[in-house]
Amino acid sequence: MQIKAPRGTYDILPNDSAKWQYIEKIMKDTAEIYGYREIRTPIFEHTELFERSVGESTDIVTKEMYTFVDKARRSLTLRPEGTASCVRAFIEHGVYSGLMPVKWYYNGPMFRYDRPQTGRYRQFHQFGVEVFGSSSPYADAEVIMLLAEIMTRLKLTDYELHINSVGCSLCRNAYQQKLIDYITPLRAALCRDCQLRYSKNPLRVLDCKTKSCQEAIEGFPTIYDSLCAECREHYSAVRDVLEHSNVSYIHDDNLVRGLDYYTNTAFEVHLPGIGAQSAVGGGGRYSGLVAECGGPDIPGVGFALGMERLLLAVETLTDVDLNRFQSGVDVFIAVMDDKYEPQAVRILHQLRQADIKAEKDYVGRSARAQMKYADKLGARVVVLLGEEEVLKGFFTLRNMQNGEQVQVKSQDLVHNINRILLVD
Ligand code: AMP
Repeated sequence: MQIKAPRGTYDILPNDSAKWQYIEKIMKDTAEIYGYREIRTPIFEHTELFERSVGESTDIVTKEMYTFVDKARRSLTLRPEGTASCVRAFIEHGVYSGLMPVKWYYNGPMFRYDRPQTGRYRQFHQFGVEVFGSSSPYADAEVIMLLAEIMTRLKLTDYELHINSVGCSLCRNAYQQKLIDYITPLRAALCRDCQLRYSKNPLRVLDCKTKSCQEAIEGFPTIYDSLCAECREHYSAVRDVLEHSNVSYIHDDNLVRGLDYYTNTAFEVHLPGIGAQSAVGGGGRYSGLVAECGGPDIPGVGFALGMERLLLAVETLTDVDLNRFQSGVDVFIAVMDDKYEPQAVRILHQLRQADIKAEKDYVGRSARAQMKYADKLGARVVVLLGEEEVLKGFFTLRNMQNGEQVQVKSQDLVHNINRILLVD
């Protein structure tokens, strides 16, 4: 039986990986302009890290983690998100004793046992950033502005930015009780999931996607009305910065995010055009997370963008020529007789050392077939290597665009090739 990629995973073949590289480059360059530096963490971590950080009652921890026991009986989990690992690394390496704030970005695969559909996979990729060590609302605003800038540079300007404040642990606890009191008499109308979780985690009901749940709780008390003075001030400062910076947003009372660690600012970015899974990214502030994971009491704020969903959107753009990012072949060395193969290899090496993308045939094609192959590869110049050339010490260069042929001395080869390549 043929072995296929596991359900919810897929291959990124070379034609597609050019698109990935395009998106990744924009994200990386933009993050670096904003002063973020890359961190790479392991793909798997101790299970406890996610239980403690993401939260034991969240969907991710209760249903979606790829957890396994290794040969030494440790419980390990393929990372379902990136923040927990950043926090662990931040503590483990004592990064907090250096200059603050610490600004990191990451990019890599994440794993969740989700029901696969368009825009939702079991192995997916996130680009994310984290800022540690600042409780200023300006840090929240900067993170949101970086997200907005990435969307703009990707030409995905029809995004919707939703923001809310989920308060600090004090105002949130008071609010949760208020919400439970409100929901309890309505609970029969909720979906099964919400019936089970509303008393433990009432905020989840607010962002449940089931229509009946949303109808049942209509008119619910908003968290905004329960925010303490400090949280309200923080939220209003974030909104002020966004307004001054012309970043448009929608205040969204339903936005609470699916991870337990958020405090104060929470936000999500949606692209309405990409289907049911329209959230392309989200994030927020997490004041207690570093301490919860065994570190000092240092706040953080960050976001994660889902690469697959961004790709879906970028592919619909008509003014971005993704083929431009394919790495093709510039020069093809056509060998007219097998005995000149060693010379061909030497030229190939010489051109590649001069940063010219060069290729030759490796499957014994005839001279004619080599020209056809060169054309298929998109080569713009063919170097013809036959008896006359070798005996007289020159090369024939064929410009594949206009069919012109010139003869050049071997010492002028690179120079002449570059001249043709630069003209186009
Ligand atoms: P979250 O960590 O759940 O806030 O997710 C942040 C972003 O990652 C989402 O907005 C999605 O774009 C993306 N994402 C989350 N889960 C998946 C998944 N199973 N498949 C593809 N993308 C995902």
